[in-house]
Amino acid sequence: MKANGMRIGLGHDRHRLVAGRPLVLGGLTIEFEMGLDGHSDADVLLHAVTDAILGAAGLGDIGEWFPNSDPQWANANSAIFLQKAVDEVRQRGWEIANLDCTVHAERPRLSPFKRAIASKIAELAGISDDRVNVKAKTGEKVGPVGRLEAIDADAIVLLVPSLRG
Ligand code: MG
Repeated sequence: MKANGMRIGLGHDRHRLVAGRPLVLGGLTIEFEMGLDGHSDADVLLHAVTDAILGAAGLGDIGEWFPNSDPQWANANSAIFLQKAVDEVRQRGWEIANLDCTVHAERPRLSPFKRAIASKIAELAGISDDRVNVKAKTGEKVGPVGRLEAIDADAIVLLVPSLRG
């Protein structure tokens, strides 16, 4: 099937903040007193990005591709999920035009890491840095994010036909 037109995809994820886990966001480990709980490395941002990419190509969701009941994915590096999604959309003739995302975290303060996280996502997805944007918001001290119970992430991606054919 030849890709034509454009496809847009949306991703959202939430993981609980707990003691005794590393905080992995966008493929980077960030120094903090808590981390995200989950079956894999619980990288909430890469999960949202992966879902956006899968969604844009009409390929379902991350839970179908990488079930959290599968021991194969216990403590998995979520970069594997992202790279598999990128490979699948490339095989179908698509490339990522741009990717925008938001991390919702009361703490740690993420603004110093936004550029590094965007670069890491671009590297993992095999695209240039200027195609990835990362934003950070707090939870305004209310809700699960504001109470430091969770970190949320949203992502949106635009796919266009690959010039490589
Ligand atoms: Mg997840």
